[in-house]
Amino acid sequence: VRTIAKPVAKLIDEFSRLPGIGPKTASRLTFYLLRTPKEQALALADALRELKEQTVFCSTCFNIAEASPCPICRDESRDRSIICVVEEPLDVLAIERTREYKALYHVLHGAISPVEGIGPDKLKIHELLERLKVEPVKEVLLATNPNLEGEATAMYLARLIAPLGLRVTRLALGLPVGGDLEYADEVTLTRALEGRREM
Ligand SMILES: [Zn+2]
Repeated sequence: VRTIAKPVAKLIDEFSRLPGIGPKTASRLTFYLLRTPKEQALALADALRELKEQTVFCSTCFNIAEASPCPICRDESRDRSIICVVEEPLDVLAIERTREYKALYHVLHGAISPVEGIGPDKLKIHELLERLKVEPVKEVLLATNPNLEGEATAMYLARLIAPLGLRVTRLALGLPVGGDLEYADEVTLTRALEGRREM
């Protein structure tokens, strides 16, 4: 006997798939939305639809944008000789917030993780190397997270890029080890950018 309406069970199930949301929170969110005025709940549905239908990955840097190339890649005032390599689009936001960095990015969409079965081929590494061949880049700043996967990815990239004769730098230590770039405060991130070291 089904004791719970099908649409309710379905939404609880969908919420449960989200990172950091267990079955309890999924139920709470679902019942909150049940009590919410219809317009407000449907605004959430619209926002979700627009998120998927009105965003694209920039074909150059693979950041998320409303159009490709993204505003950062199109920005003529940016220094085109430096590419900052990050794991996720959220890391671009974190670095942009510092207002210290006025050059380009490349979003890998993850980090190398043998445990999770993520090899270099699953990341935008090939695309990065292609960019380095055609763009007037002088420095590649590796800003992957200061954890095991991020360090492994930085080492891997440094080895690939070194033969191209480009300067390869890494964000300075001082970022909390094991942490995520996106959670670093602006002061820490600014220092990490200023104190970047050669690899
Ligand atoms: Zn872009």
